[in-house]
This record gives sequence, structure tokens and C-alpha cells, in this order.
Amino acid sequence: MVTIKVFVPTYFHKFCCIADKCPDSCCIGWEVDIDGETADKYSTVDGELGDKIKKHLVSDDDGYMFTLCEGDRCPFLNDCKLCEIQKSAGESFLSRTCTLFPRFFDDFGSFREMGLGFACPEAARIMLSESEDFSLICQDTSDDENTEVDEDFLRSLLDLRAEIFSVLNEKDVSFRDKIQSVLTKAKHFQKKTDGEDFFDGDFNRSFDDCLSVLLEMEYISEKRRSFIEQIKIKKPSEVIVEKYKDDFEKLMKYYIFRYLLKAVYDYDVLTKVKYSVFACIVTAGIYTHFGTPDFETRVKIMYGYSKEVEYSDMNMELLDEVMYGGFSSDDLLAIL
Ligand code: SF4
Repeated sequence: MVTIKVFVPTYFHKFCCIADKCPDSCCIGWEVDIDGETADKYSTVDGELGDKIKKHLVSDDDGYMFTLCEGDRCPFLNDCKLCEIQKSAGESFLSRTCTLFPRFFDDFGSFREMGLGFACPEAARIMLSESEDFSLICQDTSDDENTEVDEDFLRSLLDLRAEIFSVLNEKDVSFRDKIQSVLTKAKHFQKKTDGEDFFDGDFNRSFDDCLSVLLEMEYISEKRRSFIEQIKIKKPSEVIVEKYKDDFEKLMKYYIFRYLLKAVYDYDVLTKVKYSVFACIVTAGIYTHFGTPDFETRVKIMYGYSKEVEYSDMNMELLDEVMYGGFSSDDLLAIL
């Protein structure tokens, strides 16, 4: 066993699942993956609960999962939106996925980072209402072994991330100017990394092209898709972007924190920065539809976007593809 340092945002420990009070539910719409260890434990459960688990626990090449019931609900989510497994057998009987969500973690050699995902309404509420500047606290944990990474590249990514955060923290600078500076830094970094292979395209994309990407995606909630199809989402005005810049800065910080260091595995920094800007453009466009959206509406827009886009491998692959080969940094800046 080795000791590893775990860095978490200061708001991380404020999260507690609000279960039956949740306006959405992570137990609806998603197939619940069950890890092997939990599946073994489930095979020892007797009685009514054991019978129900046996009925719904299935497996394929990807592993174990629960079949979904009517309305795409987890079979163990009761009418009061509470988990029957947790109620009857306790929290220790929950699968790793159920215990972890909406937390995420990534290992980078000698350290780990953990955060809260925006796809959960309560996590989104915490992150959007946070008054402290984004900062990390460190705790120790132990694990079997460290992952191997390119340490030099990781250090340069950490420097870039610190620079981006200091740009986003600047006072009295417009959000657009901050994004311009962030994209310029990311572009410069990518050019240095790629040399002659550097590519940022020249596509002259518009806001409507962003909407087309959004509509090309798969949706967990068809209701959300038809909402996007039916409402008038317009290119966000400067007034909207500046009025709610605190929200968009928080969203940017979340994306940069969650995704930038992952470039240590594929060396593609610019695409990760681009999809953080894309998220701001699209959510600002949806804000525009509401005029002056209240806090609850803004939380709903942010978690809805995150849930549909970030938690689908297919949608993230599409986003990777179009941000690399379909939208230049200049396009995104012109659209914002
Ligand atoms: S989405 Fe978040 S608050 Fe809602 S049930 Fe899941 S973990 Fe709890």
C-alpha cells in the first residue's frame, strides 16, 4: 500500500444527498452499474430484498447492472424517492457507483483529485452558491499503487491550470476578456506541445452550429431534448454574460478543474479548454430564453447540461471530436 495525497475543493464536504427532496434523481434515466464486489455481496442477501435483487441484477460483457423499470427508474427507488437497498440493508450495501455519485476522482501519479459533478442538483446548488474563491484542501489516503504519468508534462499542466485560475479570479475584467486570455494561454500551450502538428482550424462557426451539436447528442431525458428543441435559445448577449458572469466563472473553474489535467493522458489541452467555453456559451444561451432566470432555474440549467453532456460517453466523444476538428478558439470567442 502507498500513501497518496487527495486534493478536494473546499466545498466538497458540504455535499450530502438530499434524496427524497431531490428535484431530479440520479436513480432515474441511468442504468446503475454494479461492481463485482457489490454483486458478490448481493448474492448473499436473503428474503424479499434478496429475491428482488436476483430478479433485477443482470450482467453482460461490461459487467453487472440493474435493469430499469417503468419510467427508466432504478427498481430499488421507491415511491418516496428513497433507495430500498439503503433503507433495508444500510449504506454499506450500496454499489461503488451509488456511493460515489456525484463525486468523481482522477489519479495523477502521486496524487488524486476529487470533486463534485455538476450533474447533481444539490452539488450544482452548492457550487453555484459558493462565496469563497475556488481552492483545494489536501488529505491523505492509501491505495495499492500509484498510476504512472509523464511527470514533466503534468507539472506544466498544473502551472497552466494555476494561470487560468488566476485569470478567472481577476477583478474588474469582463468575462469575455477573461475567456480570450484563457483561450490564448491554452492555444500557446498546445502550440508548444504539438509543434508543427498544431491544429486549431478556421471554421467560422456560429451559435446555431453550437445548437446543432447539442441536438445531435443522445439524451437521458427526452423532456430535456424537446425543451431544447422548442425554446428559443439565442446567442447570449453581452448583457446576459456579464450579468451572470459569476455563474459562468464557476462553471469554467469546474470544467478546468475536472478536465484539464486529464490532458496528461492525451496531450490535448486546447480541446478541454474549448469544451468548458462551449458549456458557458450553451448555458448562457439557455439563460437568454428565461431573460432573468432565478437561482433555481440557473441551477436547473447547469445540472441539466452537465447530466446530458458529461455523463454520456457518446456525447463526450462527440464534443471532443467537434471541439478539436469543428470549432476554432476564435469561433468560440466570436460566438460568446
Ligand atoms: S442527484 Fe444528487 S441529490 Fe439527487 S438523489 Fe442523486 S446524489 Fe442525491
